[in-house]
Amino acid sequence: MSRAFKLYRLQQVDSQLDQGAARLAEIERILGDNQAHQAASEAQQRAQAALHTAHTAMRSAEENVSAQQKRIEQNQASLYGGAVTNPKELQDLQMESESLARRLSELEDTQLEAMSAYELQQAAAQAADAALAEVEAQLASEHQALFAEKAELLAEQTRLQGEHETALSGVEPADLEVYSGLRASKAGIAVSKVEAGTCSACGAEPSAARAQAARSGEELTRCDNCKRILYS
Ligand SMILES: [Zn+2]
Repeated sequence: MSRAFKLYRLQQVDSQLDQGAARLAEIERILGDNQAHQAASEAQQRAQAALHTAHTAMRSAEENVSAQQKRIEQNQASLYGGAVTNPKELQDLQMESESLARRLSELEDTQLEAMSAYELQQAAAQAADAALAEVEAQLASEHQALFAEKAELLAEQTRLQGEHETALSGVEPADLEVYSGLRASKAGIAVSKVEAGTCSACGAEPSAARAQAARSGEELTRCDNCKRILYS
């Protein structure tokens, strides 16, 4: 087993470990991110508050109409009850009766508006409830899938960790130092396979002599362009 191959084998395992770690971090981010739920929950609370306000306004409009109707009943009782006989007083009661009726009509208009506003708000509140329930159901199913994926990834990482130890065991300390330095500076890829005559990491073509050296793998050959270790 050549030095370059040992490092290449280590690289393959480490790249898989990197991918698993990146996906695990992404899963943690998604699980911790509840923006959609928070937005739907706040919208639902706002809709409930608006519904409550609309309900209060509707009740108040109903009470105003009912109080006005009582005033009209009292006026009518005085006007037609027979107790008042003075023509001036009767005339005043008649004028009051007309004024009360006009005001009742206004109050009834207000009540109708309040009822229709309440109905609109009821529909909005129901829509907000449904939207929240949908987000919660979606999150539950997404999270279930993510938890399952996370468990699989963790098991896979443990298995890969074992492979990493195995791959590491045959690597010389000096080669490991070069490898680790390149991993840190070259986006995790220290070893590049030569494929169809080119460095698969950067696309440069190594010279014939380097390609030959990479094939033998007894010394570590580096790509002229990206400086990674070539494996062929
Ligand atoms: Zn290269």
